[in-house]
Amino acid sequence: MLTNVNETYNDPKKLANDYVHDVYKQLKVRNPDEIEFLQATREIFDSLRPVFMKNPHYIDHGILERITEPDRIITFRVTWEDDQGKVHVNRGYRIQFNSELGPYKGGIRYHPSVNLSIMKFLAFEQIFKNSLTGQPIGGGKGGSDFDPKNKSEREIMRFTQSFMTELSKYLGPDKDVPAGDIGVGRREVGYMAGQYNRINGGFEPGVFTGKDPNYGGSLGRQEATGYGTVYFAEEMLKTNDLSFKGSRVIVSGSGNVSTYAMEKAIELGATVIACSDSSGYIYDENGIDVETVKQIKEGSGERIKTYRKYHETAKYVKGCENIWSLPCEIVLPCATQNELDEHAAATLIQNGLKAIAEGANMPCTQEAIELFQEKGILFAPAKAANAGGVAVSAMEMSQNSMRLNWTAEEVDEKLKEVMKNIYKSCVEAAEKYGHTGDLVVGANIAGFLKVANAMVSHGIR
Ligand code: NDP
Repeated sequence: MLTNVNETYNDPKKLANDYVHDVYKQLKVRNPDEIEFLQATREIFDSLRPVFMKNPHYIDHGILERITEPDRIITFRVTWEDDQGKVHVNRGYRIQFNSELGPYKGGIRYHPSVNLSIMKFLAFEQIFKNSLTGQPIGGGKGGSDFDPKNKSEREIMRFTQSFMTELSKYLGPDKDVPAGDIGVGRREVGYMAGQYNRINGGFEPGVFTGKDPNYGGSLGRQEATGYGTVYFAEEMLKTNDLSFKGSRVIVSGSGNVSTYAMEKAIELGATVIACSDSSGYIYDENGIDVETVKQIKEGSGERIKTYRKYHETAKYVKGCENIWSLPCEIVLPCATQNELDEHAAATLIQNGLKAIAEGANMPCTQEAIELFQEKGILFAPAKAANAGGVAVSAMEMSQNSMRLNWTAEEVDEKLKEVMKNIYKSCVEAAEKYGHTGDLVVGANIAGFLKVANAMVSHGIR
């Protein structure tokens, strides 16, 4: 540990500041090129100063040093053959970051941008998110730089089988339980589960979540992240005398999280005026029809541009950045990390934005978040707002071990309850540590405390 605790105990503020500063400095030296990982840790570190002021024993236990170093990082070669018989090699990852509260839990991402920094940032965020759900799950994440775009179904299957052949060694219902993420949905989870079962010589229902309900998936899992984001946002809006009803909403992306966020926002009376994919966005001030978006996305290789074929009043704009120049009251960024920067934030604020809830992981840059908060825009951070997906994944794990299935209505009721509780925990933690109304600080502290206490209980190791 870098800080001399005994000398500075009589100045808790200095002790906390020095500790956070020193550990972050060391983290930068050890992980110099991991931009996204450093961005995610920095945001948490900034929030935790008041915790170390009140609870210096966490410093004695080296909690920050330990919580920022993954339990283990697994990287491996994934070799597969395309439909023409050409051999390809991709890199696979699984970050088993922290298992203090339960088995590692977090999705698998297939995207060409996947690298160690992105995997570590996602797994690190997952620790706190999973803790916030109140469920017994630790934090992990995995994926590959494999690009599923323009690949046939058979190529995706062969890639996934090769990926799982190596990864299966490290998984288990009480050890590490992956799910989907960008580029990985029910179909890919099916191929993973199939290959895992083949390797292990039998059917094991509890190793993956986000499965098809036909063979052990939970009803409501597909909808959970998007719905949960809207439930969380609705709580935040309600306490500030606002609502989705009658509001104009922009949702970025048009994948799993975006689609169901749109669906729920519309159900609550909002008009979703725009959504996107990585090539461009569609805009219709009369409202986007979510059923058409779903149909387009179910078609193989279809882009959001196709929407105009079905709704001629909609406009299509090439490139995604300008989606944030449309006037609206609520924004739900549901596509990817760092998709909304401070320039976009300034434009949105100028155009009358009232609230923003992050459906994607870390979609807003640190500068954008600071600007939203400075200008009094309601801000719901990802690790709280999008925790509904993993919360229902944990419910899927419970159903699998009990060998029973809950109805979609039961799952949705439980999801609503979880999102309300997360909102309450964030509000209370922010208030207790002197940052009333700041959900970023509240989420970070509430998520951190449970994990830190478990680390203390488990001893220094
Ligand atoms: P999907 O792959 O289903 O969808 C991602 C969507 O975002 C696609 O429409 C994609 O378009 C679009 N997109 C990607 N990059 C950009 C960009 N730069 N600008 C605009 N659109 C873009 O992924 P998910 O919906 O599952 O995940 C979205 C986010 O939510 C991620 O940050 C993920 O980590 C997070 N998340 C997901 C959970 C889940 O349960 N699935 C749980 C919690 C968080 P294109 O098709 O062109 O690539």
